[in-house]
Amino acid sequence: MPEVFHKLFNRLSGTWMTLRAKAHGAAMTAWRWCKALSASLGYYAAAAALLALLGTASHAYRLAPEERTEGGGGAPMAAVALQQPEPTPSATPEPARWVWPLEGEILGEYAEKEPVWSATLMQWQTHAALDIAGSPGEAVVACADGTVKDAWSDRLWGNTIAIEHADGWQSVYAGLNTLRLVTPGDEVSAGQVISSVGNSSACESEMAWHLHFEVTQEGEPVDFRILVEAQERATD
Ligand SMILES: [Zn+2]
Repeated sequence: MPEVFHKLFNRLSGTWMTLRAKAHGAAMTAWRWCKALSASLGYYAAAAALLALLGTASHAYRLAPEERTEGGGGAPMAAVALQQPEPTPSATPEPARWVWPLEGEILGEYAEKEPVWSATLMQWQTHAALDIAGSPGEAVVACADGTVKDAWSDRLWGNTIAIEHADGWQSVYAGLNTLRLVTPGDEVSAGQVISSVGNSSACESEMAWHLHFEVTQEGEPVDFRILVEAQERATD
């Protein structure tokens, strides 16, 4: 029916005119108010007042979409379109949390470049690892979250476990008592018991009972103490 559409159009345009007139009136009032304020308080006070007004308006705008959807279910399309997307949390991975695999005296120093004397092999050699003293059967734990890459009985190093961690890090535990507590593919967390102190390493058998412990990143050996010290500094 043409009359119906005509009436509807008239009504809508009437509403639009009224809204426009109101908006114009509000803007003019604000402008007059600013001018009056400027005259009585000076330019800076008026600018500050205007900024405060804008701040309130933008705050109201930000709050508006949430308030409008509180009813649930029947949210109008306009309100849905106004909703700002939630900022997605950045996908920065958590830095590795390092824990000592065994607490004890360092019997064998980390010597990546300077050779150290091996009493077992009767020769000078590099030692890109730490030998940590422990008592027979004392628990050895994973130094960080990771996945068991391999667990094998090495001809030189005895019972050995390798664990892969995030960001290319790997830890190796040698001379262990047992390989029965973990299998390759197991997910382990920092501090989880993976074995116990043994004396199965042929090449360090002359030393007291200890854990031979290596850490590498992308294949490059790293002194574990540097990692722990950096972590302690970061948490201080
Ligand atoms: Zn060693």
